[in-house]
Amino acid sequence: EPSAMREYVAERPTEGFEAVGGLEDARAALERAVSWPLTYGPLFEAADAQPPTGVLLYGPPGTGKTLLARAIAAESGVNFIQVAGPELLDRYVGESEKAVRELFDRARQAAPAIVFLDEIDAIARDRNAGGESAVGERVVSQLLTELDRAADNPSLVVLAATNRREALDPALRRPGRLEAHIEVPAPDEAGRRAVLDVHAAAKPLGADVDLDRIAARTHGYTGADLEAVCREASMRAVRELTERYGGEAANDHADELVVRADHFEAALDAVEPSRSG
Ligand code: ADP
Repeated sequence: EPSAMREYVAERPTEGFEAVGGLEDARAALERAVSWPLTYGPLFEAADAQPPTGVLLYGPPGTGKTLLARAIAAESGVNFIQVAGPELLDRYVGESEKAVRELFDRARQAAPAIVFLDEIDAIARDRNAGGESAVGERVVSQLLTELDRAADNPSLVVLAATNRREALDPALRRPGRLEAHIEVPAPDEAGRRAVLDVHAAAKPLGADVDLDRIAARTHGYTGADLEAVCREASMRAVRELTERYGGEAANDHADELVVRADHFEAALDAVEPSRSG
């Protein structure tokens, strides 16, 4: 069914672990659970070792779960196919299960590949809401079928992500399914410093910018928040030059662009942390 296949696109992510700040434990765990089996299939076979079929990334929003999933695909040099839980539910009757089937058909064609199911808790939530027509019920059972099939396919790895691990359907957590759980926590100070390195290092920073200090002061900021801070600080530096030179003429002064500490200050005021406490 070519029309259906068009929906799920296998891509080859190019940004690896260099784009991920901190999260060393999660990275190491992902390497063992995903990269090794995909790369060292014959060794796993020789060792009679069964790698996990499915891996669940869990942690607060904006901490880098999607980023990590794409990075591990890049690191392993395999294809990547992504779908969000709510997307699967939001379909005509019967279409949701079909979508799951098609997703995995596509993945088998693109193998070696990683299937990434983002916001997987949405599916379980719908199932628990009950009612005969609960789409989630049927999507979960189709997912279980596909996970069981994938268990026999060493060139297919299923990754899922959730902000609410406790809301995940227990059936999805059984051995042979999403059995390996990897925490992607909110960053601590060292983690925030590493995220700032990823997002600010390539910028022309003023000598007054102290990334250590920004890391120390940004308790409650996730990776996504810090990325927004860096983007906002750059925008302010750009605006300053366009104002100074009156619009496009500023392009001739690109070498004067400096992102200074006061740009970061203003950006920190503008971007609220997503987490409190
Ligand atoms: P999640 O999937 O956990 O909700 P994402 O991976 O979608 O979070 O993060 C959104 C964006 O925030 C990323 O594309 C990246 O720019 C930034 N980001 C989040 N965490 C990190 C991190 N640990 N290192 C670098 N950038 C990060």
